Amino acid sequence: MSATAASKRVYDFSEGSRDMRMLLGGKGANVAEMTRLGLPVPGGFTITTRACIDYLSDGHAMPRGLDEEITRHLEALEARTGKRLGDHDDPLLVSVRSGAPESMPGMMDTVLNLGINDDSVEGLARRTHNARFAYDSYRRFIQMFGDVVAGVERKSFEDALSELKAARGVEQDVELGAEDLRGLVETFKAIYRTEKGEDFPQEPRVQLNAAIRAVFESWDNRRARDYRRVHRIPDDLGTAVNVQQMVFGNTGPRSATGVAFTRNNTTGEAGEPFGEFLINAQGEDVVAGIRTPEPLVELRQHLPEAYAQLVRTMTLLEKTYRNMQDVEFTIEDGQLYMLQTRNGMRSAEAMLRIAVDMVDEGLLAPGEAMTSLVAADQVRQLLLPRLDLSASPVVAATGVQASPGAATGIVVFSADEAERQARAGESVILVRDETTPDDFHGMVAAKGILTSRGGKTSHAAIVAVGMGTPAVTGVTELVVDEAAGALTIRDEYTVREGEWITIDGARGTVYVGQLPLLPPDPHNPYLERVLTWADAFRTMKVRTNADTPEDARKAREFGAEGIGLCRTEHMFGGEDRLPHVQAMIMAEDTADLVESLDALRRFQIEDFVGIFEAMEGLPVTIRLLDPPLHEFLPDYTDLRIRMARAEATGIPDPEAATQLPRVERLKEVNPMLGTRGCRLGIEIPDLYRMQVAAVLTAACDVKNRTGVEPIVEIMIPLVGFEDELRWLREHILDVAESVFDEQGTSVEYHVGTMIELPRAALVADEIARQADFFSFGTNDLTQTTLGFSRDDAETKFLGDYLAKGILRSNPFEHVDRAGVGQLVRMASESAREVKPKIKLGVCGEHGGDPDSIHFFGAIGLDYVSCSPYRVQTARIAAAQAALGTRGG
Ligand code: ADP
Ligand code: MG
Ligand code: MG
Repeated sequence: MSATAASKRVYDFSEGSRDMRMLLGGKGANVAEMTRLGLPVPGGFTITTRACIDYLSDGHAMPRGLDEEITRHLEALEARTGKRLGDHDDPLLVSVRSGAPESMPGMMDTVLNLGINDDSVEGLARRTHNARFAYDSYRRFIQMFGDVVAGVERKSFEDALSELKAARGVEQDVELGAEDLRGLVETFKAIYRTEKGEDFPQEPRVQLNAAIRAVFESWDNRRARDYRRVHRIPDDLGTAVNVQQMVFGNTGPRSATGVAFTRNNTTGEAGEPFGEFLINAQGEDVVAGIRTPEPLVELRQHLPEAYAQLVRTMTLLEKTYRNMQDVEFTIEDGQLYMLQTRNGMRSAEAMLRIAVDMVDEGLLAPGEAMTSLVAADQVRQLLLPRLDLSASPVVAATGVQASPGAATGIVVFSADEAERQARAGESVILVRDETTPDDFHGMVAAKGILTSRGGKTSHAAIVAVGMGTPAVTGVTELVVDEAAGALTIRDEYTVREGEWITIDGARGTVYVGQLPLLPPDPHNPYLERVLTWADAFRTMKVRTNADTPEDARKAREFGAEGIGLCRTEHMFGGEDRLPHVQAMIMAEDTADLVESLDALRRFQIEDFVGIFEAMEGLPVTIRLLDPPLHEFLPDYTDLRIRMARAEATGIPDPEAATQLPRVERLKEVNPMLGTRGCRLGIEIPDLYRMQVAAVLTAACDVKNRTGVEPIVEIMIPLVGFEDELRWLREHILDVAESVFDEQGTSVEYHVGTMIELPRAALVADEIARQADFFSFGTNDLTQTTLGFSRDDAETKFLGDYLAKGILRSNPFEHVDRAGVGQLVRMASESAREVKPKIKLGVCGEHGGDPDSIHFFGAIGLDYVSCSPYRVQTARIAAAQAALGTRGG
């Protein structure tokens, strides 16, 4: 009679546990865990994610046998509760709740109060002696079922509710009486009939099956897909469906519903429990921000026993999960019920503080905290800008401190507009009464979020915290008039769409106009602790990409252990240098060339001295010139015009006359694949000789003056053939010898190459014979391996590829493991076979991306190099790589 394990598609809550989240979804697995722990959880069962996948992949047909399995579990639930779904005397009501393996808060659909119909609503009213409650539940059910299952505009129902309140002269839903609500049910049913062309379904099992299908379908709705894309959650996990007996927070003043965090999710502080609740309400009221909820501590006064039990329960859950929990609960006539627990989303500050505190409390060891409580990516949130208050800007309004950080941008009132303006390069602040999951794409695009309603657990706040976007919510003085395209604050301020506004999520303040922002404070004591652990665990070094002494110094403050990439291109760009660079490129004879190179050499020595001094003996990898040559040349079209003018006027232009043929000769059809990198060095060996001489002269000079010897790594770009490197290496050794002679001293130096062409990776064993080190230039390697030019990809087709699921993530952000990653792995292995001690690193943006760092750690690279602001993130990611996980 019972289904075999392989085909079992429905699990009672008592059959599951927290390790079954892939099959039961996070919500189902955690509800099962709470049931196992003996906590007060309303009974129910979970339909597996596999059933959802089967449903979606089999033409949206209910998998065979599923219906019978659901019936068996439903009957068992009815037997246990002594109630029957839709019974006219004592009806069982259930919620139908979505729940995916990865938390996707509010992205998918849930239906409450299922099982009510014209008949059972009377039973409910009689049983509970509470007709108001019964009709309130029914109207909520029609509303949710209509919206989620039948696709009836939510607004139609909301308007009817508002009209009724206006007609009765009341402000709050709770002020409506039983008769009002009975009438409202009739109105809602009429709306349903008009919009759907059929009556609201009365048969409970029809209601249930339709709701289950709708939850399955919600896996593929737009906001769920957007959310998965941003959070890189695979599309093929599916959602589970939880069918659970309803408990009621809307039966009267001894009932309530709420959400709570075991610790403060913005600061991380432990102690006073932190959350919000509403008396006489159902769950979604709190999250939707329809009424502004009360802080959790107030519950102690209202319902002391339930409060005490909630606090004990939260402590137990935190101990069980060894992580900060975010719980949802309902109190029905004084009795507490737990409806959900999950690892809570938190700000970067809170994340670090919680990790440190939990280790200090002895709840877990640093290694586990590193992997389960610290998300390397989130550390960058600490580097969010702060508001410059030195000019004492006038606060226009104050609301809830929903998500830290300050943001300034132009006002937009819709998610679509936010997306459009952000694409066009504008900083936007999305302003709404409240956000719903449908606004998600606009929230991603916005620099900041501002709402007139909702507290810290409103949708806007939760999503903003998760993304690290500054947000202020619940600004009651803010009136959003989307139709008029303006917002007003009291009668004092009007800001039209497109005008500037500034918010400070750390203070909950709103300012009219564009305010200056300050860079963040990098010295957070909790971060320092976490970084100390990270440095103890990691095996990979972390270097920085820095072209200037200032960048180098900044990166060292963040803990960089060397420079992994110092580009020399920009050193040729300054106004004082450009003429010499042009002269060099255009040189007609050796004398010209030597003269311009000499001038450049003097500049270069200065540049390198500054960098070596800043790095105080740490290794510095200097890449010889890899120029987009045409960028240094006089403009071709300009020269043509000058020549034409000279001909027309008869006034000769000798400069244009000499430059034009030279520029014509150097012009390339496809500069990206043209005379770049070592190709130029081979064409003009004196150029690279000059750079090497400057580097080594600077190094000797720093050693002589400061006594600290720089470690110099000279890196040749864009090598594809062993002989390119052999040829240039000989020049370098030759120059070194004469510099050391001339300086009367020597420094440690190495010669290596970037691996940024597929050919170089394929013949890495040959190239390794000439190289002391390799640095994988994964930006160019991604371009050359995929055949994507980054600029074109990111502005043109990449978005479409991501939306269509052809690519799962941007390969310029997260290394393409199967392609580019495979080349890096192969090249590393074959290079080490030839030269076991060869040093292997990565420069390029992937060096600062936790996901990519994890991969580079797994294949045994020696170091990653990234921009200064990513160094701390990279140190943590490298530790997580060493510990074998990717972190929370
Ligand atoms: P989400 O994933 O969007 O949080 P949930 O399935 O958790 O959706 O449902 C939202 C809210 O509905 C819950 O926070 C809870 O307050 C309420 N709810 C869900 N199931 C029940 C139930 N069986 N009894 C009472 N309230 C419920
Ligand atoms: Mg929930
Ligand atoms: Mg390159």
